[in-house]
Amino acid sequence: MTNLVLKSVRVVDPATGRDETADIIISDGVIREDGVTADGLTVINAAGLIAAPGFWDVHVHFRDPGNTLAETRQSGAAAAAAGGFTHVVTMPNTNPAGDSAEWLRTQIEDSLPVKILPSACITRGRQGREIADLADLATAGAAAFTDDGATVADETLMRAAMTRAAKLGKPVMDHAVLPDIAGNGMIRDCALASQLGLPLFPPEAEIAAVVRDIRLCRETGCAMHIQHISCAASVAAIRAARAEGLPVTGEASPHHLALAVEDIPGDDGNYRMNPPLGNRTDVRAIRDGVLDNTLTLFATDHAPHTAATKDHGFKKAAFGVIGLETAIGVTWRVMVAEEGMSILDWVARWTLGPAALLGAPAPNLAPSTLADLTLIDTRKPWQVNPGTFRSLARNTPFAGWKLPARAVLTVCQGRTTFRDI
Ligand SMILES: [Zn+2]
Repeated sequence: MTNLVLKSVRVVDPATGRDETADIIISDGVIREDGVTADGLTVINAAGLIAAPGFWDVHVHFRDPGNTLAETRQSGAAAAAAGGFTHVVTMPNTNPAGDSAEWLRTQIEDSLPVKILPSACITRGRQGREIADLADLATAGAAAFTDDGATVADETLMRAAMTRAAKLGKPVMDHAVLPDIAGNGMIRDCALASQLGLPLFPPEAEIAAVVRDIRLCRETGCAMHIQHISCAASVAAIRAARAEGLPVTGEASPHHLALAVEDIPGDDGNYRMNPPLGNRTDVRAIRDGVLDNTLTLFATDHAPHTAATKDHGFKKAAFGVIGLETAIGVTWRVMVAEEGMSILDWVARWTLGPAALLGAPAPNLAPSTLADLTLIDTRKPWQVNPGTFRSLARNTPFAGWKLPARAVLTVCQGRTTFRDI
């Protein structure tokens, strides 16, 4: 268990609104009251560093089982810990898909350096034809239901699934892309798309799905979470739904916040993701959505792929980019440094927003609790070198970027899971 003192650290705890310099004492993994004797504990001079509740990422892919050359539960968990995360929600688009209680049991492992909260499929085999046994999955520990990678296009089926999920008190998370409109699209309209002859992904594929999901939320009362928002109109629709009092949330991924389709430098598969990067108007709207809490959380959509599936140009690349080990740096750069977001709000999008979506208690740094803590260094920039990642995958669009923040210590459930200080 963790035994240390963070001396003169900036404590940022959005659950209580606390933002002040203090000492944090952790002994036997538990946060102690101020003034308790710190004899025998390792003291870290943490002046200038930020201590926050452990970060949560509600959207990660650990390719296990099915594609463990790209990522295993162990490598994904190590990447999460190194990125400052204590809790992650894994997606069920593994092979086989996560539509059974047995699958859920294989995902939850206490020995890993991050707490995995697995989501489970909405439909059997993620085929979009028959609803999975949601009650059984909820009992077995499903944190949420999603067919991520695909939406459930059949509206009648989605309505029935949401009605059941609402009764179980679990959110439905949707990869909101209607396949009939998206077709084989892989990039939004831009000069590079015409230059390379790439099939276009119309923004209406997402917007129409978001509008449908909000309508089904209104009809069923089921908490609806829209994954990886990429379009300005989606943000506007979610803002209106929330103003109406509907339980709709949405997530902003680091890549959709930091990059526009106009920024893609050339024929590089590391810029291909689903949904694709929006244009500059979309990026502006997603940032505004985060600032006014229309989008209550950040989530990486960490999507590992082997080099073989990403290194042969845009057209041949698989969809998806990794994000766990650059998430803190990219979102700090974009939202705190460029947009002037308060640090309390920035931490809240990585802690309070995700926990609220899952109906979990608010992550906090209160004494007497087993510590879940992320220590962040913003004193000097670091350069992204994918060769040093804990993730097995290297498919990031942020290679070479100078980032202004990183995790230097992660404590998960009272255990030190990452330390680089
Ligand atoms: Zn997705």
